[in-house]
Amino acid sequence: MHRAPLPRSLDPLKDESLPGYLLRLSHRLDQAPARIMFLTGLTATGNAQDRARLSVIVRLDPGTAAVFSTTTQLTPEETSALGLNAFASRYPYATLSYRIRGRTPAMLPERWLFTTATRYCPRCLAGDGSAIQEEHGGAWRRSWRLPPVIACSRHRVFLHHLCPHCRQPAHLAPGTSTRLLARIKDHRLHPLQCRTTLPATGNRPFAPPSCGFRFDTASDAGAQPTTEQLALQERLFTLLNADGPAQAPKASGYRSGWTSTSFKSGGSPRCCPAHGRPEPN
Ligand SMILES: [Zn+2]
Ligand SMILES: [Zn+2]
Repeated sequence: MHRAPLPRSLDPLKDESLPGYLLRLSHRLDQAPARIMFLTGLTATGNAQDRARLSVIVRLDPGTAAVFSTTTQLTPEETSALGLNAFASRYPYATLSYRIRGRTPAMLPERWLFTTATRYCPRCLAGDGSAIQEEHGGAWRRSWRLPPVIACSRHRVFLHHLCPHCRQPAHLAPGTSTRLLARIKDHRLHPLQCRTTLPATGNRPFAPPSCGFRFDTASDAGAQPTTEQLALQERLFTLLNADGPAQAPKASGYRSGWTSTSFKSGGSPRCCPAHGRPEPN
């Protein structure tokens, strides 16, 4: 596969996910995400029906990663860091498993963990005030997709998972579990807008509108995490960091069994995938 370098690119933001990077890059180049997926080698054609595999949120195969790096002018390390696989050394579920289907091994992401939907912190999405983030938004973070991440300790809020307007999970691409993003032919949406397609109206029977809600304007009102919960979240962040210490100081008031089971022995994490909140011990 050959693709030419894009005329302009973007530096990935800290902890940015591949879908989020594609949305910001599409917005910068004023192209639909489907076009950017094609130009960066994630799909063979620019058709909306030609979908990037969901597994690319985990990691790109070596050939695709090379094309993606060339076209976006990212280093191989920057390309690799966009995938959830970057957490695999600390969180064993953040990788792909192979299963035999018929005669061929199929590469399967963990279905309960890897969906198109993501949680989010509105204030992180609003960006850091820099010109580039004012224009294209802050990062849709990789870590928001991991069950142990339930709160933003910087802004002291629980992560959201629904769009307040249409009440659908953020970035959910319904109808199939193999679609990376919804409305990939829609070049009008800002990276921070809800991409849910609303029911068709009488005025637009063949072009149902998108929800379009800006996730960075979602209200912080509601339950706030306690100091102890934020300390636990900070400890989990430390443990998820591949460059961090193998052990982190215990957060007071919490038992340590959850983290040791989840991170070290590969046991089932005690959390609710749909909401990303820990179940009570
Ligand atoms: Zn935040
Ligand atoms: Zn919405």
